[in-house]
Amino acid sequence: MPWLGLGVWKMDSGQEVEASVRDAIEAGYRHIDTAAIYKNEEGVGRAIKDAGIGREELFVTTKVWNDDFGYETTLRAFEESRKKLGLDYLDLYLVHWPVTGKYLETYRALEKLYQDGYVRSIGVSNFHIHHLEDLKQHFETTPVVNQVEYHPRLTQKPLHTYCREHGIQLEAWSPLMQGKILDEPTISAIAEKYGKNPAQIVLRWDLQNEVVTIPKSSRKERIISNADLFDFELTAEEVAQIDALNQDQRVGRDPDTF
Ligand code: NDP
Repeated sequence: MPWLGLGVWKMDSGQEVEASVRDAIEAGYRHIDTAAIYKNEEGVGRAIKDAGIGREELFVTTKVWNDDFGYETTLRAFEESRKKLGLDYLDLYLVHWPVTGKYLETYRALEKLYQDGYVRSIGVSNFHIHHLEDLKQHFETTPVVNQVEYHPRLTQKPLHTYCREHGIQLEAWSPLMQGKILDEPTISAIAEKYGKNPAQIVLRWDLQNEVVTIPKSSRKERIISNADLFDFELTAEEVAQIDALNQDQRVGRDPDTF
């Protein structure tokens, strides 16, 4: 799984997502994160088809939406997503939210898709430790990924530690806090030191914390700069300074109440 991907939430399924995915692939991204609820899987599929690179070079994630939760409904939703994307298989299929009373049956369907070879890996999103513990009681197949809100204001240390201990890769959604963390003075000072911009510092911090990151941008220059992360390294002290900005502050919903 590539450490860096393009998130495409809020992009329309036409020109916007097609151009962004094309620009990202040109800039070297090999990982695209979409979801049924983003309603742009068709556009992502068209862009992938037009990109002219081998399917095996790309890592494509989509997610089953809450309304489709349940065993049979998830299998149907998957087939719809797969067709829209125009792919034979998905690299990663995620349970989008831990909807109470429904996520176990949904995960059971994901396990079936995995066993049948339609998805290379399965995982979850927005799962707290207690949801992961519940899954562990019911299934042999560990989710390979837990995609959660993660940025300098929400570092989720106990969850991160739990995931590490159980071989679950943490993946950051809203890694830039939807742009709201980019004028934070500690981050700006570090950016100045390296001649980088604040987004690059935050994304580099993700990587050094071993968190997969999927920043969204539909502007070509930002898509390019958000991937320009591999020619510098933060010191351990700088990583700790950014870790210390945590305030357990969410920009999205809390999985326990959504
Ligand atoms: P991000 O934290 O990635 O921030 C995106 C915002 O930041 C956009 O407004 C973008 O604007 C702006 N931006 C991007 N790059 C820069 C930059 N270099 N400098 C300044 N501003 C920048 O937010 P998202 O909520 O989109 O999260 C990323 C992805 O995570 C989503 O697209 C989606 O794939 C996934 N996600 C998953 C969820 C889940 O429940 N599993 C929930 C939410 C998101 P512009 O486009 O104009 O550049």
